[in-house]
Amino acid sequence: MTDLHQEIAKRRTFAIISHPDAGKTTLTEKLLLFGGAIQMAGAIKGRKAARHATSDWMALEKQRGISVTTSVMQFEHGGCLLNLLDTPGHADFSEDTYRTLTAVDSALMVIDSAKGVEERTIKLMEVCRMRDTPIITFINKLDREGREPIELLDEIEAVLGIACAPLTWPIGMGQRFKGVYHLEEDAVHLFDARHRDRVVKGEIIEGLDNPLLDERLGEQVGELREEIELVRGASHPFDHAAYLQGRQTPVFFGSAINNFGVLELLDAFAKYAPPPRPRAALERVVSPDEPRFSGFVFKIQANMDPQHRDRIAFLRICSGSYRKGMKLYHVRLGKQITVANAMTFQAASRQHVEEAWPGDIIGLYNHGTIQVADTFTQGEKLKFGGIPYFAPELFRRVVLKDPLKAKALHKGLLQLSEEGATQVFRPLKNNDLILGAVGVLQFDVTAFRLRDEYNVECGYEPVNVATARWIECDDPKVLEEFKRKNFEYLAEDGGGFLVYLAPTRVNLQLAEERWPDVRFKATREL
Ligand code: GDP
Repeated sequence: MTDLHQEIAKRRTFAIISHPDAGKTTLTEKLLLFGGAIQMAGAIKGRKAARHATSDWMALEKQRGISVTTSVMQFEHGGCLLNLLDTPGHADFSEDTYRTLTAVDSALMVIDSAKGVEERTIKLMEVCRMRDTPIITFINKLDREGREPIELLDEIEAVLGIACAPLTWPIGMGQRFKGVYHLEEDAVHLFDARHRDRVVKGEIIEGLDNPLLDERLGEQVGELREEIELVRGASHPFDHAAYLQGRQTPVFFGSAINNFGVLELLDAFAKYAPPPRPRAALERVVSPDEPRFSGFVFKIQANMDPQHRDRIAFLRICSGSYRKGMKLYHVRLGKQITVANAMTFQAASRQHVEEAWPGDIIGLYNHGTIQVADTFTQGEKLKFGGIPYFAPELFRRVVLKDPLKAKALHKGLLQLSEEGATQVFRPLKNNDLILGAVGVLQFDVTAFRLRDEYNVECGYEPVNVATARWIECDDPKVLEEFKRKNFEYLAEDGGGFLVYLAPTRVNLQLAEERWPDVRFKATREL
């Protein structure tokens, strides 16, 4: 095996998806604890509030106590190198989350045992399904009274449309929570609430018939034996291929805050989760073990360092390797750039390594020359697709406070929209600038950044737009006719694409009925 093959085989690049409060932050912290990336649990919690204290515009984030940005954490486990891509917890920044999901090879889904499948989980699952992303499920908070495990699995199957294969099974819950039975190992892992912040393997008892179990579990042992017989008979056995195809999810139970069930999850993750997989470009499928570098940008973050007004483009490596100082070809601009100082995200023990491999993320500093979905290669003209833009659901007209700043406003908005921070629409009928967002906080962030980075003060006014659709039509004649008849509703987005801004849902519906040859698309792929 070459270095490249070895490095690929080790990599696991993933994200955690969940509804807010299910325990994503807590689980992240424990995963890093096991991975040795942080010494003390608690570091991540702190990070939730303080990690961007260095950055001006992040003050906004701090004020609101939410996480706006995505970052990368690399750690080691079971001989693997795991890249965990963090996603914003707040629904207003869900576009960032969707795009991050295009850069992972698999996902962990966290579900609160008392709440079951919640609305954000459903939406995120839909996004994972677009690429058949393999998913491992962690059912959390077993130390509290929750719903029956069987009921939870039924709900996942019915609502999320994915088969469940439990790999562990909980013994009681709440006050009666005693641990989990590991179905593959045929062993009981006993719960001990004293190990919250430490990496310890608790007591393990081999064999369901082991008399030690009667001693430890008392009357609950009978229940457990009966339940396991039922579970073995009624549930799907784990099928690795079905998991890799996104048709089945292995399920683990535990309590993240008590550091329980996390090691079992992590072991299985290192064992079963896929290493970097081939990825489709518009021209051809790119295999990770191709020696030449390729990758795409899934996220741009501005002003991490207030001293430098630059941005960082997060690039996922798809093939080959990155080495400090190498030349990369910026396909959209048709330009070679020398990457002297990419940001790498290394596990704690590999601090000084200046290379990165497929599955890894590197951060490219730039001043607005890099956009979401840009592809970089070593010369080949490739374009990785599949990064979605979602039709915004909220709209505002931009009001400029100083009319002399119109040019700066245009420039700022265009750059911010290219970055994916907001969407900007210019109606064909007038000179308005209309902003579109998925969540209302995006407007605040945009105004904040316009002031901070472009020195432009702006406000917002309500505008009569309910929803937007990208317009496509194969017949140029029909398209011309459509444009003429619907002039007052049409606009161009930041990329120059034609968009229909519907004042009401009913208006949109009527237009769709009236123009059967025109496609009204709710997403646009970059
Ligand atoms: P996030 O919004 O998904 O990142 O969720 P957090 O990790 O911030 O957790 C939300 C709340 O649930 C916090 O108050 C956690 O302390 C709590 N929590 C997380 N895991 C557990 C658990 O295993 N048991 C209990 N009882 N609470 C938990």
